[in-house]
Amino acid sequence: MQPLFNTLEPQVLFQEVPDEVSLGFTITGCKLRCEGCHSEEIWDGNLGVSLTNEAFAAYLKKYEGFITCVLFFGGEWHAEALIEKLCIARQSQLKTCLYTGLPRISPKIQEYLSFLKTGKWIFSLGGLDSPSTNQKLINVNTGELLNHKFWENTRANTR
Ligand code: SF4
Repeated sequence: MQPLFNTLEPQVLFQEVPDEVSLGFTITGCKLRCEGCHSEEIWDGNLGVSLTNEAFAAYLKKYEGFITCVLFFGGEWHAEALIEKLCIARQSQLKTCLYTGLPRISPKIQEYLSFLKTGKWIFSLGGLDSPSTNQKLINVNTGELLNHKFWENTRANTR
C-alpha cells in the first residue's frame, strides 16, 4: 500500500527557497510543538487531504514550466511517503527542499534534497531572516549556508 500523509492546499512561494519558485506543501501532523508555533492547527495530522503520488504528480503537471522547486514544510515523520514524493519531483527535473524543525534528518531523506532548512522555531532568536537565528538553510549539494540570502531580501524589502 502507498505510504501517505496529509497536506494543505499547496502554494506557490517566491522567498522560502532563495532564487527558486517553489510549490510548497504543508504536511500536517508536526509533533515538535515549538513554543509560539505560527500554525498550531497543523499539529493535527487529520487536517488537510491525503497526498497520493498521483495527486502530487498532477500538481507538478499543473505548475509545469512555472515552478523550479518543490518545498515540503514537514513530513519527515513519514519518511517513506516523503521520499516517494521527492523522487517524483526529481524525475520532473525539479529541485527539492525540506523545512524541518529538527536539528538534522535521516541521510536517507537528505539524499533526495537540494536544500534543507533545519532548526526549531525559537521566538527570541527569530527565523531565517534574523542574523541571530538557530535555523539554517543549506544547499545540500555544496554544503553552503544560504541564510545570508534572507538578510539581503529583508534589507531590499525595507529600502
Ligand atoms: S516545527 Fe514548525 S509547525 Fe512544527 S511546531 Fe515547530 S513551528 Fe510549529
